[in-house]
Amino acid sequence: VKGKAKKAAKTAKDVNSAAVLGAGIMGGGIAYQSASKGTPIVMKDIAQPALDLGLGEAAKLLEAQVKRGRSTPAKMAKVLNNITPALDYAPVKDADVVVEAVVEHPKVKATVLAEVEQQVAEDAIITSNTSTISINLLAKSLNKPERFCGMHFFNPVHKMPLVEVIRGENTSEETIASVVAYASKMGKTPIVVNDCPGFFVNRVLFPYFAGFSGLLADGADFAKIDKVMEKQFGWPMGPAYLLDVVGLDTGHHAQAVMAEGFPDRMGKNGKDAIDIMFENERFGQKNKIGFYQYS
Ligand code: NAD
Repeated sequence: VKGKAKKAAKTAKDVNSAAVLGAGIMGGGIAYQSASKGTPIVMKDIAQPALDLGLGEAAKLLEAQVKRGRSTPAKMAKVLNNITPALDYAPVKDADVVVEAVVEHPKVKATVLAEVEQQVAEDAIITSNTSTISINLLAKSLNKPERFCGMHFFNPVHKMPLVEVIRGENTSEETIASVVAYASKMGKTPIVVNDCPGFFVNRVLFPYFAGFSGLLADGADFAKIDKVMEKQFGWPMGPAYLLDVVGLDTGHHAQAVMAEGFPDRMGKNGKDAIDIMFENERFGQKNKIGFYQYS
């Protein structure tokens, strides 16, 4: 850590309470991770079934740890107690850091970010877990963009070490330092990246998905592609299975942002496999049918 950044690291805000907006695949995972590393977190959604799902997922992860002898029922209860489900903003107002993790729609995110800024303290930090949407664009919905940056976790949150901390043009060094510190406290490895559509990881991942879609358009079999990438090439999973894990709805919205951001490289002529899966509501593991079927 050099010069200005060293000074900022010293001024990193202590994060003792957090809130996550959205209790989906990512919101549930972020709540679990924060709670299990000792930072209480409010998990807010607009629908009770979503909250139940988020809490259920956290409980499942904890039960698995108890079964493996890595935790105890008492510890499990303590972690679950660290997650406060909410359908309104009242419990969110004391959060030191907010992580927005609602659907990948610029307009929905803009509304949610503007709403939450009205609720939290003047010095609270607000972040977005967006996969692809420009942080500078989202920052426009806030009165104090210096307190805002990206905090991009990967799926499944409890397993994936990386967190991209995305610096917008108005993000303060203190905000970056505080979010880096919070990510580290959560047991993650943060990297600080500059803003652009897709940031670092998705600028690599979406061209890969485009290559996969191209192979399907040329008549390849998705299961065979997965098999080769996983078994022979040695990646943890192939692209079809990965898209099922990510969610084809989220993938579809993210792909549209990438195409708009990089029309020369990521623009498309006509529909590709992700579009077709989305239109047929084959969203992947979240609704039990994607490229594969889940019981
Ligand atoms: P998801 O569809 O599983 O969950 C989204 C949740 O947001 C739903 O529970 C929905 O009810 C809730 N929601 C919608 N509007 C809301 C509002 N106004 N207030 C509160 N909650 C609201 O989606 P996800 O996969 O968890 O993705 C969430 C965000 O995380 C997206 O921006 C996505 O791009 C990003 N992300 C996803 C992945 C992934 O692999 N799925 C990975 C990294 C980042």
